[in-house]
Amino acid sequence: MRQVVILGSGCAGYTAAIYAARANLKPLLVEGPEAGGQLSLTTEVENFPGFPEGIQGPELIRRMREQAERFGTEVMRGELQEADLSRRPFRLVAEGREVRTRALIVASGARARWLGLPREMELVGHGVSSCATCDGFFHRGREVGVVGGGDSAMEEAIFLTRFAARVHVIHRRAQLRASRIMQDRALANPRIEFAWNSRVLEYLGDGALEGVVLEDMITGATRRLPLSGLFVAIGHVPNTALFEGQLETDYDGYLLVHDGSLTNVPGVFAAGDVHDRHYRQAI
Ligand code: NAP
Repeated sequence: MRQVVILGSGCAGYTAAIYAARANLKPLLVEGPEAGGQLSLTTEVENFPGFPEGIQGPELIRRMREQAERFGTEVMRGELQEADLSRRPFRLVAEGREVRTRALIVASGARARWLGLPREMELVGHGVSSCATCDGFFHRGREVGVVGGGDSAMEEAIFLTRFAARVHVIHRRAQLRASRIMQDRALANPRIEFAWNSRVLEYLGDGALEGVVLEDMITGATRRLPLSGLFVAIGHVPNTALFEGQLETDYDGYLLVHDGSLTNVPGVFAAGDVHDRHYRQAI
């Protein structure tokens, strides 16, 4: 029997753990399938306050874990397989072990949708990214690509023009999905070029991205496009499948909260990207 279980080992999970542990609640934190969350997939983090020299993403999350453990957080490897939130204490099953808890903090995050190409995960953090705010600065004066045709892709492309010499938006159709105003801004920007009806077939470069092979989906023609960075902006998926039918979500599966962090079930709280579709930042 626990006072509080925290699901997720990203920034939100460890922040919750530090506060809960210092409140003497002896939290149990279940890591989830991607220990350290999205920060574990990044390299240098330059915009986390308190680290003027920057810090590596995995190192930042390692320190958060150490801080949470110092105050008595118990960290459990593995995933939650079951969650029955119909009555309190809640009944959870993690790695075949049953846990009962008075409160649950869901900090299971969201994952970027990727293209699913060979070697993609090796190149994430080495040129391939899902976050222009995080990694755009590294491409000063270079050529970069953005995949997608929605608001996120336009926002990323416009933001990247502050640094990059040229931004290639690679979209699988000839029409954008983005809102009119974002489209207009992107189309009017002289540093943005559009590769319509195009898809990325292959990543080029060993260890770090050097470019992509693009296919014109109408003619079938292929071409090499040298790039120092590729930003994949084809949407995010919140990690809420386990709570379907129990916790209220929006149309995309993000948890709905009121008063900051309360879900529709008393005793179940949400923190971080699992409910925040807008900011998606470690801070
Ligand atoms: P989105 O609107 O779902 O757009 C995803 C884009 O990625 C679409 O253009 C889609 O192409 C493309 N795509 C999806 N899967 C792909 C694949 N496997 N390969 C290549 N392309 C693929 O997602 P989003 O842009 O992240 O936006 C999510 C929500 O947040 C939206 O409601 C958006 O309005 C909102 N948002 C708002 C702002 C803002 O107002 N400033 C900023 C960001 C996000 P198709 O068009 O062909 O389907």
